[in-house]
Parts: sequence; structure tokens; C-alpha cells
Amino acid sequence: PSSGNGLPNFRRKPVIIIVVGMAGSGKTTLMHRLVCHTHMRNIQGYVMNLDPAVMTLPYAANIDIRDTVKYKEVMKQFNLGPNGGILTSLNLFATKFDEVISVIERRADQLDYVLVDTPGQIEIFTWSASGAIITEAFASTFPTVVAYVVDTPRSEDPTTFMSNMLYACSILYKTRLPLILTFNKVDVAAHQFALEWMEDFETFQAAASSDQSYTSTLTQSLSLVLDEFYNNLKSVGVSAVSGVGMEAFFKTVEASAEEYMETY
Ligand code: GDP
Ligand code: MG
Repeated sequence: PSSGNGLPNFRRKPVIIIVVGMAGSGKTTLMHRLVCHTHMRNIQGYVMNLDPAVMTLPYAANIDIRDTVKYKEVMKQFNLGPNGGILTSLNLFATKFDEVISVIERRADQLDYVLVDTPGQIEIFTWSASGAIITEAFASTFPTVVAYVVDTPRSEDPTTFMSNMLYACSILYKTRLPLILTFNKVDVAAHQFALEWMEDFETFQAAASSDQSYTSTLTQSLSLVLDEFYNNLKSVGVSAVSGVGMEAFFKTVEASAEEYMETY
């Protein structure tokens, strides 16, 4: 958005970091590690939890959907199962999201980052109306980036890697926000293989062809398509458990926020 004098009418701070990724990729653990890092480095961060169904969080959230929406009550009241309960809770919260934005705006001068944790099941946030509303509310007010968390050891399997990249690709084109491929769990498996696969699709095709299934043929064709997508991405390797890669992560966030400021 532009304010007519050529200057963007949103603030430069804080940068919103929306953490998404497949269930089990390590979003919540990574959030905790990022919070620890900001405390250690005296970076001013605000932490938001958008998972209504999480039982306990390893970090203290400044804004927590669970304070506003009681997921179990929502399930009972609307006669829903767990997924419907989570989705409806997020919808209810989205209707009040202007208040959340106001809270952050009032503190904007003292904040460098807002870290946002999303529900365990990725599609509840990325393919729902409320997820889109929340993302749009952030992105129209503050520089906003998406950290797409990848389970690196699991992605050593070419087909899993491809599924993950397709999902990330769909998020990039849907949100049109800078996307950081955040290869997590590098304490278990280094993400070098992923960088090589992204750099050179023939290397990836060679890995995929060792699997003779029809999915591998599809996977090989798709790798050509994704080549263009990779050019639009930044990637970083981290471990939420060991703490490796935190400096690199925040550097990449800064670069992505710059990209946001130039593009939007
Ligand atoms: P979420 O569903 O994406 O929020 O994932 P969680 O943060 O709950 O993590 C899922 C599992 O992966 C947990 O057992 C974590 O301990 C584990 N995990 C998360 N990050 C790492 C990591 O960097 N290294 C290792 N080895 N395990 C991790
Ligand atoms: Mg989680």
C-alpha cells in the first residue's frame, strides 16, 4: 500500500514472522528456540499462538488464541469434531483480528518482531478463509514474511521433499509474501542435500529415479516446474533443538523484510 507521497503507509517495524509447516515439522519447538534467542540477544519480540487446540506451550505467548476462544466449548456448542473445532475457533478469532492488530500497533515502536505460531495441521491455516484474513491483516499493516518449516530428515525421501516443496510453492503464490524455507532438525540430518536438489534439478531427478514408481515419474516432471519457484526463495538450515542457525534465520528474515518493503 502507498500513501500518495510515494512512501509506504505502513511501519517498518515490527516484522511479522508467520511460522507454518506440516504437523510435526517443529513449528512450536522452533518458536520456543526463536524466543530464547531474542531474549539472549536483547531483541524485542512479541509472541502469538494461533493454535486453539495446543495443550501446553514451551514458550510464554503475549497473545494466545486460547485466552479468547475455548476450543472444547466451540466443539460442544457447534457439535463439531476436532478439526471443525479448530477451524471454527480460528474463524471466531479472525473476526476480532483488528483488535490484535491494534495491540501490536500500540507497541510497534518497542517491537522488532512478532512471531506467530499456527495450528498443527497446516491446511487449517493455509487453506482457510480465516487464515487468509489473518495473513492479509498482518501483511497490509506490517512487513510480513512466512517461515515455512521443513522436517529435513523426512525430506531426504525425494517424494516427501517434492510434496513439501509443492506445498511451500502453493503458499508462496497464495500469500505473495516473502517465503523462507526453514530446514529444521539439521541436528539429525544436514540440509545440504536439499540445497543441491534445489540448485540442480538433474541431481534431484537422479535421486528420484532410484524409486521406480509412477510417483517418481511425476516427481521428475514437477522438478522442472519447481526450478522457477526455487529462484524466488531464501532458505536456511536450523535446529530448534540444538539452536544452530538462529543468527542465519534472523538475517534471512531481515533480507525478506527488505524484499517486502521493496515489493509492497
Ligand atoms: P509442530 O507440530 O510443527 O508444532 O511440531 P513440534 O514443535 O510439536 O515438534 C514435533 C516433534 O519434532 C517434537 O517431538 C519435537 O521435539 C521434534 N523436533 C522439533 N524440532 C526439532 C529439531 O530441531 N531437532 C530434532 N531432533 N527434533 C525436533
Ligand atoms: Mg505446534
